[in-house]
Amino acid sequence: MPRIFPTIESLRKTLADDRRQGLSVAFVPTMGALHEGHLSLMREARKRADKVVVSIFVNPTQFGPNEDLDRYPRDPEGDTALCASVGVDYLFMPSVEEIYPQPGVTTVHVESLTDGLCGAGRPGHFQGVTTVVTKLFNIVQPDVAVFGQKDYQQLATVRRMVLDLCMPVEIVGAPTTRESDGIALSSRNRYLSPEMRQKALGISQGLRAAWRAYQKGERDAKTLLNTAQARIEEPLRIEYLEMIHPDSLQPLETLEGGPGVIAVAVHAGKTRLIDNLRMDLDDPGIPAPEALP
Ligand code: AMP
Repeated sequence: MPRIFPTIESLRKTLADDRRQGLSVAFVPTMGALHEGHLSLMREARKRADKVVVSIFVNPTQFGPNEDLDRYPRDPEGDTALCASVGVDYLFMPSVEEIYPQPGVTTVHVESLTDGLCGAGRPGHFQGVTTVVTKLFNIVQPDVAVFGQKDYQQLATVRRMVLDLCMPVEIVGAPTTRESDGIALSSRNRYLSPEMRQKALGISQGLRAAWRAYQKGERDAKTLLNTAQARIEEPLRIEYLEMIHPDSLQPLETLEGGPGVIAVAVHAGKTRLIDNLRMDLDDPGIPAPEALP
């Protein structure tokens, strides 16, 4: 079983002892309600350091006023058992008061990368993310931190923050874990009715259809996006569906000059789902969509 730490001070003390012994530390920040996608990040972390720290913190500052903070799924006992199953050493489960003892007046804001996509529909979200990730990095001081490619804009934003602010941590992006039918695992999938889940399959099917067209030589972004869009049917509502540059996240019109990423956000009833797929023939990190039905 992982050792559970509710306070910053107790975790810091243990990690300082470890570091004095020359042990390296890998970190996986999460909001809990853990699933196989989170576990794949923890396994990656396990390979990369002597000690693995997982945090479970539903960060209020990254939720908008009309979002699902209050109904975000929570399962501390189940999460602890799952962390144990992949050999996590330390589980940091702080209260909101522990992380925000008073309203902060200091924030970390990454410009440009956070303007579009999820940033456009969720004002303040990424500032909440980058601020809490900075706080968690300062608490854990990891050598390496693992994030999922599933949240592509978040991964790119954290990478850029670490680069711009000279944070001494290596950021690893881990591939998206999918169900056997292609749907990307998400803590929010449990909100979906069976009918909605069936419809939501269209998201990954659309991305895969675009990937196939890309593999056959299509390079026009609009054509690839239309191919994806055709699979995303009512009552799903598309918030955005864009072809972006993998690092700058700026929109691309063509992939003649290099790889791109299709990023999509969809509303399935009250549930907001995101997914993405890299269009890059050379990238072995592409989740093998051709292997899916
Ligand atoms: P969350 O708990 O949703 O904030 O996610 C915590 C971490 O798990 C983030 O780095 C996510 O990108 C990652 N993650 C969530 N879903 C998946 C998935 N299906 N595959 C891989 N990583 C994921």
